Order: sequence, then C-alpha cells, then structure tokens
Amino acid sequence: MHFNLKNIIVFCGSSIGFSKKYTQLAKEFGDFLVQHNMGMVYGGGKVGLMGVIADQMLSQDGHVIGVIPKLLEKREVVHRGVSELYVTKTMAERKIKMSESGDAYVALPGGLGTLDELFEALTLQQLHIEQKPVGIVNIDGYFDATLAQLDVMIREGFVKPENKELLIVAATIEELFEKFEAFKPLDKTPVTDKIVK
Ligand code: AMP
Repeated sequence: MHFNLKNIIVFCGSSIGFSKKYTQLAKEFGDFLVQHNMGMVYGGGKVGLMGVIADQMLSQDGHVIGVIPKLLEKREVVHRGVSELYVTKTMAERKIKMSESGDAYVALPGGLGTLDELFEALTLQQLHIEQKPVGIVNIDGYFDATLAQLDVMIREGFVKPENKELLIVAATIEELFEKFEAFKPLDKTPVTDKIVK
C-alpha cells in the first residue's frame, strides 16, 4: 500500500518501558516507515523508544530528522547519526520546527513529554490552527486511561464530543495508517482568528 504522507512526527518515550513489547513496537514502527518511504521527525534523542526507532530506520537508510532544543543537546542524549539535526533555542521553537517538518502526528507509548506533545498537537487541531491527522498506537490498551480521561472531560462539559474524534486511535500500526489515509481535513478558520476579529 502507498501512503501519501511524507514525514511523520513521532512522540514516544525517552525510556523504553518495562516490557520488551514496547521496544518491539518501536522497531516495527521504524520498519513500517522505511518500507512505505516515509521519514520521521522526532525529538532527536538517542535514548528510549525514540532512539530505538531512529536506529531501526537509520540502519535501513531511512530518513530521520531530529529536532532538539539546545538545553538537551548538551546532555548525552542527542543522536548524532540522524539524517538531519536541528538545534533550536527553546522547547517552544522546537515544537514549531517539528510541526513544520511533518504531515501527521503519531504518539507511541511514552511518559509526560509524550502526553504533553500529543495534547499540544490535538489542541492545534481543536483550534483549527493545523489540519493534520493525530493518532496513537494503543498497544495492549496502553492509552486506555488517557482515553477514559477524555470521556470524563466530555461528560463534565470541558471537551466537545467532536473534539475527541480529533484523536485517531488504532490498535496496530497498519490500522493507524489506514485511518490516516481516510483523514479529511476540515476547512475552517482558526479559532484564534475568530477571537481576534
Ligand atoms: P517522555 O515521554 O517524558 O519520555 O518524553 C519523550 C518526549 O519528549 C519525546 O517525544 C521527545 O520529543 C521529548 N523528550 C523528552 N526527553 C527527551 C530527550 N532526552 N531528548 C530528546 N527529546 C526528549
């Protein structure tokens, strides 16, 4: 199958987790991108699942774009072997650069950083500032509690039901990309413009 996406922005753990299944998923994800001629844009680290995907892709001549803030570059975490490395002044600048460099967002299992990035990506869609698919690979229900929290927020009136649909949920990598292909961007004015006008 051919996918129209070129570069995928990937958020995932700077740790590898306790189960080998997470490393396995990260390797399969890297293989999938290379096999389908897609590159990865990610946080530029060599640690955790981030490093696993990057290494998996680079060993097969895959294209890996790392975007890392200066603060983290100084530490022993930066991956020096990536195809392109961008060092930004701040975390905020890094997020902008990552967003400019890719055409879909994927979160794999991770921690606070991963959730921060995932929810920022969703917020950009919610405000119609961006129109990119955002998805998670919910391996063995890893994100079930996150999804349950969204239901609480809907029930209590803090999230519109349709905004939960902005998050594309798949149990496998293949399913996620099939759903991405079916993604139709909404043609809407950014909510922020509406507020300013
Ligand atoms: P976490 O989920 O807390 O492990 O954080 C991982 C996410 O935050 C990744 O998607 C990265 O973009 C970013 N991040 C956290 N730690 C690092 C690091 N040491 N080097 C590069 N990026 C990191």
